[in-house]
Amino acid sequence: MQELEPVIGLEIHVELMTKTKLFCGCSVGFGAEPNSQTCPVCLGHPGSLPVLNKQAVEYAVKAGLALNCRIASTCKFDRKQYFYPDMSKNYQISQYDQPLCGEGYVDLEVDGKKKRIRIKRAHLEEDAGKLVHGSTAGGDVSLVDYNRSGVPLLEIVTEPDISSPAEARLFLTKLRNIIQYTGVSDCRMEEGSLRCDANISLRPRGTTELGTKTEIKNLNSFRAVERALAYEIERQTKVLAAGERVIQETRHWDEQAEVTRGMRSKEEAHDYRYFPDPNLLPLLVDQGWVERIRATLPELPDARKRRFMEELGLSDYDAEVLVAAKDVADYYEEVLKYYGDAKMAVNWVMVELMGLLRKEGLEITACPVSAENLGKLLVLQEKGTISGKMAKDIFAEMFSTGQDPETIVKEKGLSQISDAGVLAGLVDKVLAANPESVAAYRGGKDRALGYLVGQVMKETRGQANPQLVNQLLRERLDQPE
Ligand code: ADP
Ligand code: MG
Ligand code: ZN
Repeated sequence: MQELEPVIGLEIHVELMTKTKLFCGCSVGFGAEPNSQTCPVCLGHPGSLPVLNKQAVEYAVKAGLALNCRIASTCKFDRKQYFYPDMSKNYQISQYDQPLCGEGYVDLEVDGKKKRIRIKRAHLEEDAGKLVHGSTAGGDVSLVDYNRSGVPLLEIVTEPDISSPAEARLFLTKLRNIIQYTGVSDCRMEEGSLRCDANISLRPRGTTELGTKTEIKNLNSFRAVERALAYEIERQTKVLAAGERVIQETRHWDEQAEVTRGMRSKEEAHDYRYFPDPNLLPLLVDQGWVERIRATLPELPDARKRRFMEELGLSDYDAEVLVAAKDVADYYEEVLKYYGDAKMAVNWVMVELMGLLRKEGLEITACPVSAENLGKLLVLQEKGTISGKMAKDIFAEMFSTGQDPETIVKEKGLSQISDAGVLAGLVDKVLAANPESVAAYRGGKDRALGYLVGQVMKETRGQANPQLVNQLLRERLDQPE
C-alpha cells in the first residue's frame, strides 16, 4: 500500500476575559456558586433580549489581529440550533457565513524551516452551561450550572495545514502564547478557557485531495491532543489498509484507556438550520476603531524573539525559551533595567531562578525575589563585591527570605575580600604555618600552591577573592628567600 500522510485541522475555543457575558450583564468569574451568575438572557428565557458586549468584540478583534486575520467591516450573528440540556434556548448564538475575523495565519518553525498554518476564520459565539454529574442518596444525578452559559468565546478554525501530532502541539503552544500576549484570555486548558477539537484524515503522501476526516473531542490537555491524534492515525491506517473506508464522525478521546471512540456521526452545517438571529442587528465594524485596537497590541512573541537575538545577542534557544513564557520574558527584561549583561542575566533567570521556582512549585509571578533584587545581586557580583559562588548562596537566601542582596551581604558580613592589604597579612600567616608546602612549591611542586590558596580561603570563610590570593601567594613564593 502507498505511504499515507496525516492531514490535521484544529478548532480552538478561547474564552475571552471580559467582565461580563456576551449578551447580558452577568459576571463571567470562574468558580462561583453554581447558577449565581445568571439572568433571563443567559438562562434563555423566552422574550429576553440579547445586547452585544462591545468589549468582547474588541477582544476578538485584538486576537484576530494578532493572528494576522482580516477583520470584517460587517458581520452578523446566527442561531445554530441543537438540543443540549446545558443550553436552554436550544440554539447557540454564533456566527456562520460572516465571521468577525477572516483569513489569517500563524508561522511555526518546524525542523529549522518556516511552516505557515493558515487560519480559516475566527468567530464570536456564546458558551453553553455545564453539566455536573454526581450521585445523591436517591441515585445518580446530573445537575446543570448555567454560570458559563453566555460567556464569550472566540472559535478559531485552522485550514488543514498541520502535518503531524507534534506539529499540532507546537501550533497550539504558539497560538496560546500569542493569545496570552494579547491579554484577551488566560488560555488555561485545565479551567476550560482554552479548548481544542482536532480533525484528522489520511491521504496518500504527495497527493492533494483530502480524505474523510474524523473529529476528536474531549481533549483537555496538549498532551491529549498529541496522543489522540497519534492514536487516530494508527486506527485510520488500519481501516484503510483493510480496504475499508473511514467513517466521517465525531469521536471521543478516552483519557484513561488512551483510545478514541465513535460518539455520533458528524452533523453537517445544514443540520443546524442556521439563520440570522432576528434579535441582533448586523455588526458594522469601524475600520478606524480596528486600527486603534491594532495600536494597543503588545510586541508579539516572534518580534520579541527577534529583538532578543538581534539587540541582546541571545541564542536562538534562549530567546525561544524566554518568549515562550511571557511572564518569564517580562521578568528578564525587568532585571535588565538594573543590570546590563544580557547573557549573564539570561543564565541566571533560566538556570538559577527557574531551578528554584521549579523546586518550590512556584510560578514566576509569585517569585520571592524581585527582578530588581536579582539585578542588584548581579551588579554586586560584577563589581567583585561578592564572588560567583557567594552570589549563588546569597540568591538562595534571597529566595527563602525575600530580602534584598545588600542587606544579606551586610548582615552576614559576606562581602568578598579584595583588599590586598587585608589579605597580605593572612597570606603571611598561612605561609609561616605551612613550611612543608612552601618548600614543596619552591622545589617545583606547583600543586602545593593550590593547597596554600585553600588555606587562605579557609581563614576567610571563603570570602577572599581567589585570584588575588593566588597572585599574592605567587609574589611571596617567587621572591628569593
Ligand atoms: P465542518 O463543517 O465539518 O466543521 P470545516 O470545513 O468547518 O468542517 O472544518 C473544520 C476543521 O476540520 C477545520 O480545522 C479544517 O481545517 C479541518 N478539516 C476539514 N476537512 C479536513 C480533512 N479532510 N482532514 C483533516 N482536517 C480537515
Ligand atoms: Mg466546524
Ligand atoms: Zn445573564
